[in-house]
Amino acid sequence: MMDDKVNSENPYSRLMAIKKMGIVKNYDEIRQKSVAVVGIGGIGSVVVDHLTRCGIGKLIIFDYDKVELANMNRSFYTPKHARENLSKTDAAKQSLNEINPDVEIIPNNFDITTLENYERMSNILQTQGTTQQDVNQTPRKVDLVISCVDNHAARHAVNQVCLELCLCWFESGVSETAISGHVQFMQPGATACFECAPPLLVAEGIDEKSIKRTDVCSASLPTTMGIVAGILSQNALKYLLGFGEVISYIGYNALKDFFPAIPIQPNLTCSNKLCVQRQAEWAATKEKMVSEAKAA
Ligand code: ATP
Ligand code: ZN
Repeated sequence: MMDDKVNSENPYSRLMAIKKMGIVKNYDEIRQKSVAVVGIGGIGSVVVDHLTRCGIGKLIIFDYDKVELANMNRSFYTPKHARENLSKTDAAKQSLNEINPDVEIIPNNFDITTLENYERMSNILQTQGTTQQDVNQTPRKVDLVISCVDNHAARHAVNQVCLELCLCWFESGVSETAISGHVQFMQPGATACFECAPPLLVAEGIDEKSIKRTDVCSASLPTTMGIVAGILSQNALKYLLGFGEVISYIGYNALKDFFPAIPIQPNLTCSNKLCVQRQAEWAATKEKMVSEAKAA
């Protein structure tokens, strides 16, 4: 379908230049990859923009919100989207289709945390990963999940569904003050899950609503969100195409331009029993791989 000659009329062929330069030899495999992005606000909308411009095969997007004029201090959405009263998922589909019509965009406009919608999401992640390029068109899981939501209830839902389906995922966020952010990679059993190393309010069992200040709006900077989104998209590409090293956890402090990076090990006594089970499965897989390597 696509000419891999590098020319200015075919944007995809420009991307293929990094294959020609030998940096990412299998770049064209990006067309067979499907990614689910949950939350397409300040971070997620930039991530879907990046992946679309990189020529990803399929994007499955989840968000329950509409575009508002208040969102214009972030990237991607336009006042026209707000005037047309569009959901973020429909507005994103519209814009992304214009940017790269080869990318299949599946919008899901619902709250992922209700019991019924959690099941809907689980079903979608489990069966709609198939891309148009897949030789075998049978239903399959998505290749990766990216979480760009802004609350713990939604993060818990993503954590749980990824543990259940054994899906790798990236967690991300920007602080209320907008001057720091983070990206964390989670592989069920192999790395910490969202509940292994809980943030304060999860550890203490505090109701999130009780600490959210209602009299102030969270600060928001398109710069901080753009930087976090860039790190996130870059690591998603590395994970999907298997080049470089996927970051375990990286923070970002905007005031000092400081990026602390640390591995976060799984917690053997994680409060999530499924996580503990996945850890045991992962340990057994590793043991098997070591004995097979010794036997070879
Ligand atoms: P603000 O909180 O300042 O109004 P926002 O809602 O756009 O901004 P962002 O941090 O920019 O927040 O983006 C987070 C995105 O995650 C939002 O678009 C929000 O609608 C989405 N989101 C959060 N929780 C859920 C959920 N349970 N189901 C679906 N989407 C969610
Ligand atoms: Zn855990």
